[in-house]
Amino acid sequence: MRNEGTTMKDSNCIFCKLANGEIPTTTVYEDDDFRVILDANPATRGHALILPKEHCANIYEISEELAAKAMKLAKKLVTEFTEKLGCDGYNIVQNNGEAAGQTVFHFHMHLIPRYKDDGAAFGWHMSELTDDQKVELLEILK
Ligand code: AMP
Ligand code: ZN
Repeated sequence: MRNEGTTMKDSNCIFCKLANGEIPTTTVYEDDDFRVILDANPATRGHALILPKEHCANIYEISEELAAKAMKLAKKLVTEFTEKLGCDGYNIVQNNGEAAGQTVFHFHMHLIPRYKDDGAAFGWHMSELTDDQKVELLEILK
């Protein structure tokens, strides 16, 4: 069953259990809507995850209101944590769907501190936008 009453938890979802305190974890921030924890497999020192307490699988399912709150929280924490960690930048990563690398199907935002020359490797191979693609994509997306 996906939703259980007003708390909207999924009983099979590990992030629901972490976010709602059913399983103890490494909390670095908590409010009524979110728990922020340290990633168990950090890309860099201080890699954290914003977890909504309400279950939603991905960006397609999350409400606009909660998504807006998550982004607002990301801005606040990145600002604070940059100072505390002494890092040089931040990546905010948010995967949706298996094809996009999502492995836990409860919406989350990765807050990944970056340090000059930290060697953390993620990104994509950059190709070049062709004229045909431009025409096609502008037609589809605009
Ligand atoms: P994604 O690939 O975007 O779905 O990311 C899932 C992330 O959750 C990975 O970076 C994992 O290291 C992290 N993760 C999975 N299980 C746990 C856990 N129990 N506690 C903390 N982080 C976790
Ligand atoms: Zn969940």
